[in-house]
Amino acid sequence: MADFVLHVGSRSAQGVRPNNEDRFVVDLATRLFLVADGMGGQEHGERASGLAADIIPRVVQNELAADPNANNAIQRALSEANSAIVEAGREQPLGRRMGTTAVLALQNNDRVYVAGLGDSRAYLVRNGQVTQLTVDHSVAQALVLNGALTPEEARCSPLQHMLHRFLGAPDSFEHADIHPFEPQIGDRLLLASDGLTNHITEDDLREGPQRFPTAQDWADHLVDLALRRGSRDNVTCVIIAFDQP
Ligand code: CA
Repeated sequence: MADFVLHVGSRSAQGVRPNNEDRFVVDLATRLFLVADGMGGQEHGERASGLAADIIPRVVQNELAADPNANNAIQRALSEANSAIVEAGREQPLGRRMGTTAVLALQNNDRVYVAGLGDSRAYLVRNGQVTQLTVDHSVAQALVLNGALTPEEARCSPLQHMLHRFLGAPDSFEHADIHPFEPQIGDRLLLASDGLTNHITEDDLREGPQRFPTAQDWADHLVDLALRRGSRDNVTCVIIAFDQP
């Protein structure tokens, strides 16, 4: 099993929005990383993403202390965050529900477990290859998968912003899909909100590790680039570099 030193860069920019509903977590002790993009407007979105950022690391840590199964720990943490956000939403006046996306990565022994709900994304950049590890849970992307829309049509569709899976869904919580991979020296893992991914191409990601040797420099560059290209959303990313000890 390869041993790694993790170097992490992170940044969240409010941009032109009146508040920042994105939250991120960098927990090097647990090797847990998270980006959450809250929905519901004003303080509701902030509250939802804040609950996810508080609850998920705590539950993952507690679960792993009792049972080393990373899949179970992640599912439990997402389920508890979902319940807490639904509960918090019930206190709001009708029609003011809250929710949040969550994309997380947990390194546990020789694997990294990636899970996403909503349209925040995880990308792996390895040897100049870029792989999106998560699926967007937008209605537009679901229509692309069943052939009703082309990817080009989906990009311009208002359904791109309508999510069918997220934390804070009141009816039932389906288990998240977890994508494990074996990290290699030199890997770069990016977690980001849609305020970033809507303005950054896979070509931008491919060239990043060469141009920006430190994860923090690259994170700063990507956030600035998304804002320069006109992102009117909150812009957040966490970059994890798997480096030689
Ligand atoms: Ca967003």
